[in-house]
Amino acid sequence: ANGKRRPLVMGNWKMNGRLARNEALLTELKAGLASGFDAIDVAVCPPAPYLGQASKLVAGSAITYGAQNLSTEQDGAYTGEVSSGMLTDLGVKWVLVGHSERRSLYGETDETVAKKTQVALEAGLIPVVCIGETLEERKTGDTEVVLARQLDAVLPVLGSQPASAFVLAYEPVWAIGTGLTATPEQAQEVHRFLRDRLASSGYAQAQEARILYGGSVKAANAGELFAQPDVDGGLVGGASLVANEFIGIAKGA
Ligand code: PGA
Repeated sequence: ANGKRRPLVMGNWKMNGRLARNEALLTELKAGLASGFDAIDVAVCPPAPYLGQASKLVAGSAITYGAQNLSTEQDGAYTGEVSSGMLTDLGVKWVLVGHSERRSLYGETDETVAKKTQVALEAGLIPVVCIGETLEERKTGDTEVVLARQLDAVLPVLGSQPASAFVLAYEPVWAIGTGLTATPEQAQEVHRFLRDRLASSGYAQAQEARILYGGSVKAANAGELFAQPDVDGGLVGGASLVANEFIGIAKGA
């Protein structure tokens, strides 16, 4: 955080949740985040079937909600897919694009990610574009090469947009769900690299673009991560399912 950019703390519930559990969690979040959080944005990303439920439960609060994925296609014969129009119909504000689980388990390529980013932008959704290196790639010294490739794939789409239209999320694959968090210094180094690359690509609003860190963020480490000058908040998996943890993380921002 650097005071110029509004921090964002976003929960990625992944494929977790049930009606009763979601209601309990969102009710606690609503109460716990009711005051003292005016300077940050807080959002949750429940599984698609629960977006309607989330919209009702967060009504009247500052909590916004996002989807975890969207189709590259518009409505039509695409069994099992969810279109951008359906998401906007449900009042969805954000959509995760290119999460490493989508890339590794569902074969999403840099090209798919760019297309989804474009579809989200066209619908007025704010894509949260996720990029990150694997442990193998970090060990072989390829972190920046991989991140540059993943970022460059979406730059043609993002380049014409104001910084308020999108969010980047740096999520080192080795830190996701592993309990192994990047150190604040490791996160800062990559976030600086990404911001510099945005700027050197000719993007005029690199200083305004929000870059989140994700990967084993918890209440105990959020403060030091978010204190780094180029870390503008977090994308939180496991800890976003526990009300006190998520509220603690939001406090860290
Ligand atoms: P984690 O997941 O916080 O459980 O590591 C982060 C993510 O995948 O977005």
